[in-house]
Amino acid sequence: MKKVRGLWVRPLRGGYREKVKVATKLPCWKVKNAKDFDRFLDEQMERLEMDHLDFYLLHSLDKKNWRKVRDLGVLEWGERAISKGQFSYMGFSFHDDTETFKKIVDAYDWSMCLIQHNYLDIKNQAGTGGLRYAAEKGIAVAIMEPLLGGNLAVPPAAVKSIWEQAPVKRSPVNWALQWLWNQPEISTVLSGMNTMKQVEENIAHASASGIGTLTSRDIDIIDRVREKYEELAVIPCTDCKYCMPCPQGVNIPRNFSLYNEGLRFNKQESSRKEYKRWKQDYDKKRFSEDIRAFQCTGCRECEDKCPQGIPVSRWMPIIHSVLGEERHFMMKPE
Ligand code: SF4
Ligand code: SF4
Repeated sequence: MKKVRGLWVRPLRGGYREKVKVATKLPCWKVKNAKDFDRFLDEQMERLEMDHLDFYLLHSLDKKNWRKVRDLGVLEWGERAISKGQFSYMGFSFHDDTETFKKIVDAYDWSMCLIQHNYLDIKNQAGTGGLRYAAEKGIAVAIMEPLLGGNLAVPPAAVKSIWEQAPVKRSPVNWALQWLWNQPEISTVLSGMNTMKQVEENIAHASASGIGTLTSRDIDIIDRVREKYEELAVIPCTDCKYCMPCPQGVNIPRNFSLYNEGLRFNKQESSRKEYKRWKQDYDKKRFSEDIRAFQCTGCRECEDKCPQGIPVSRWMPIIHSVLGEERHFMMKPE
């Protein structure tokens, strides 16, 4: 175990630690009581072989996790940790809606936050509204999921043909990153890279980037790409969750999202695998309910609550037949 831990920190030995900023995160969903704050931080510092961190983020805040750690006194604990020199700055990473994001922003004088953002997620999660709100308050905003889990790197044919019409030739990855780097509210963009080639390409893209680099024609092209992706998401679910809970335990927006993702990103097989995994998660008791479309009895209780007027009870059997029984994807309910 010791040997494996050493591997994580080896690149920072020999004087390199002083040249970089180190951040790690409190796994908020695992916190059970206030003693866990110290327990996790102590263990992280021991594993990192460091007695001081630069940034400490409350990881993956949403309504539920935020309420829990706030009520356990995480902000006061963080202040004490800063005054003891355990870390310099406190921030948070976030996965929920814009309203929740703004409430968290307003609750403390954060140094930084980490949000999911890309040219498709302008109204999703913190969204552009949240990004600007945090930046106006002087909070440094770092971006995760700039390529939406890699989905934006390999566009379907309909999107590819729009990129090909652009007067300036860029790869889909370069377009997505430039869209972010173009915005003054963004401090930095985190993008996962698996190969040295990807590292080199991203460095080259970053070298040609800057606030205001994109022209209005470039922005128009990106808007057209976004519209095309939205057209490809055939079920107009906004993930508002007004339809929930379903009496049968069906997670309605997650089923819709999985179906849409399969179509939008040409990832039918991975949507089917994920659907199968939900069943396994239920069998292994990781989920308390079987959330698959399969459980829908067609009661239509959810339909009156849906502001988008989605015929949920007609879509659910289709979703199960496509994702669970490998039928062809359909563009509208029969
Ligand atoms: S129609 Fe289906 S998804 Fe909607 S509430 Fe009834 S069982 Fe749940
Ligand atoms: S109410 Fe409609 S739009 Fe909102 S999550 Fe449910 S299905 Fe989606």
